Amino acid sequence: MPTAKPPEEATTLDALRRAAASCTGCDLYKRATQTVFGEGNPRASIMLIGEQPGHEEDLAGRPFVGPAGRLLDKALVQAGLDRRHVYITNIVKHFKWKEKEGGKRRIHEKPGRGEIEACRPWFDKELWLVQPEVLVCLGATAAAAILGPAVRVGTARGRALSSPQGIRTFVTVHPSAILRIPEDAERAAEMGRFVADLRRASSRSGKAARPSSPSRRPGSGSSKGAPAR
Ligand code: SF4
Repeated sequence: MPTAKPPEEATTLDALRRAAASCTGCDLYKRATQTVFGEGNPRASIMLIGEQPGHEEDLAGRPFVGPAGRLLDKALVQAGLDRRHVYITNIVKHFKWKEKEGGKRRIHEKPGRGEIEACRPWFDKELWLVQPEVLVCLGATAAAAILGPAVRVGTARGRALSSPQGIRTFVTVHPSAILRIPEDAERAAEMGRFVADLRRASSRSGKAARPSSPSRRPGSGSSKGAPAR
């Protein structure tokens, strides 16, 4: 199966982002506008991980800038977090969509396992470069990609778990799931739980960017030997 192949020499997030812009590791690039790479503080203590870019992200080339992103921004503020201090990315970097209503609208289509696996090398290298203290999985796709297919948002939520790399990991809902709740009161309650999840994750991290410590940064393009923490 084809897969993304981050170049060995891409040892910074900017270099990785440039390389990902021409990725053809799976078929999703063919119908998307552009690669939507992660963004944020390269020394962030907290990495937020979503599923894939949506319609607005695909057009803007930035993650979480559509309706779900705006809700996430509000939740971050309420949790006492500054978006500029965290790193936000997706497990899959291209928008997968299907047509609706005579082709006038593009609606989200869940990425398949093959696409998630094909795109994984980009995320793994982002993780290696940022080396966050805490991961926050936004929704089931990110949670399964980080913690394994058996994980369920409902049971994993609210607990401090550990990723296979030994990074403290929290699971919560994807902000788009909050937007889909029709009842105002129920939506507000879910927003409160989401903020509490972010606050819990924040309390287990250094919150802001860590001070520069070159010894923790990769010195070459290889991601082998990434520390398990
Ligand atoms: S989804 Fe990922 S692997 Fe597939 S083409 Fe886009 S960047 Fe490459």
